[in-house]
Amino acid sequence: MELETIIGLEIHAQLSTKTKLFCSCDNDAFGAPPNTRVCPVCMGFPGMLPVLNDEALQKGVRGAAALGCEIQAFSKFDRKNYFYPDLPTGYQISQFDQPVSLDGEVSVDFEGEIKKFRINRVHIENDAGKLSHNQSGTYCDYNRAGTPLVEIVTEPDLRSPEEARMLAQEIQKILRSVGTSDADMEKGMMRFDASISLRPKGEDKLYPRTEIKNLNSFSALFKALKFEQKKQIKLWGENNAPTGETTVGWMDEKEETKLLRDKESAMDYRYFPEPDLPPVTFDSDQIKAIEADLPELPLTKKQRYVEKLGLTEAEALKLAESPELYDFFESACEHFSGKPKKVANSFLSIVLAETDWEKSQITPEGLSQTLELQEAGKISSTAAKEIILKIMKEGGSAEDIMDNLGLEQKSDTGEIEAWVDQVMAENQNVVEDIKNGKDKGIQFLMGQVMKLSRGSANPGVVMGVLKTKIN
Ligand SMILES: [Zn+2]
Repeated sequence: MELETIIGLEIHAQLSTKTKLFCSCDNDAFGAPPNTRVCPVCMGFPGMLPVLNDEALQKGVRGAAALGCEIQAFSKFDRKNYFYPDLPTGYQISQFDQPVSLDGEVSVDFEGEIKKFRINRVHIENDAGKLSHNQSGTYCDYNRAGTPLVEIVTEPDLRSPEEARMLAQEIQKILRSVGTSDADMEKGMMRFDASISLRPKGEDKLYPRTEIKNLNSFSALFKALKFEQKKQIKLWGENNAPTGETTVGWMDEKEETKLLRDKESAMDYRYFPEPDLPPVTFDSDQIKAIEADLPELPLTKKQRYVEKLGLTEAEALKLAESPELYDFFESACEHFSGKPKKVANSFLSIVLAETDWEKSQITPEGLSQTLELQEAGKISSTAAKEIILKIMKEGGSAEDIMDNLGLEQKSDTGEIEAWVDQVMAENQNVVEDIKNGKDKGIQFLMGQVMKLSRGSANPGVVMGVLKTKIN
């Protein structure tokens, strides 16, 4: 029997706001001592009242719109009840039946083919705290409690772990491109739950799924799905397909899943409307304004770089990956107009080859000014690289560095003629060979002249003088 894999994702991404979702605690708690970014609201003290952070709402709906979702005119918050030590209120404030947005679609370039995956909904909710366990007990850190999240729920449109990883990566790029989330996996700003089931190919019915909780890297997402897929293929092969829904966890070190519990249903959470928060409303003009304000999204950008700027797929893919990269690239292109390919080449091969390039002193102007000097024939490509590296380290203008290091190419024929004469005198046999038709020798002489000039001679002028003198 041929089986088909059905995968759906729930993605949690932390909104990049100054403060938490319902209080004014600092939202940037990364590296902060435990329980130093808390207040009565996010600690769930009796009588506390949440106030919705408008920045979180705006960033949330902007992200939803970028994922092609329809922003809802009316939405509300609900309490999702469960008892766990990392949740001081005893409930999470989330959105249940009327989320802030519905029905999106994300296009992904999957091995050269554009595939579209539907998004069921994007809603806003707060995060729980963090528990850490050691031999003496369990410790609670509530710095993360109340952090604003968007939860992105896809339709079960994915047919392989590869597609799931690609979609997750595309969503990360989209959220970054619109400033909704930094989506930094290493800081836990983006996490996945993935559901997987199989079915005989050709059937429409969905079979009981396994939900894999709390995957915090693309590789964990991919490996966990591969593991469960293999496990379920085996069960189906043994006529023993899963009959109930289960929830499992992924153990990175062992590279296998572990049963946590039978899957909860909405019933288990006893959702009810959050009485302390008013509903959220958007009128049609506000919704239109949010949609109109969206920037060019990463996939469109990549396609434009290939089709309009003549970059290769690999160059375009890399440059369209994050705002730091494409903002720099596009700004440098503006200063050095008409030569995007050259900008891309030196940005990718020189600037990005250095670690921590973002922390270096290079600016788009610095890069484009260097390229202009090269374009004008004032410096060689080797000198351009030297100047770019120097700017990265110490800052300064390309022209000053060129002058200080004496990197300007000499086009003065008098000086070049003297070097050519010297090289020809020292290599008379080569000169004779060239006269007898062995053209290759001219490259050797050229190299010798360049060496003698310590790279400062203009190669075009050297070649002209050599040819004239030999003939
Ligand atoms: Zn707080």
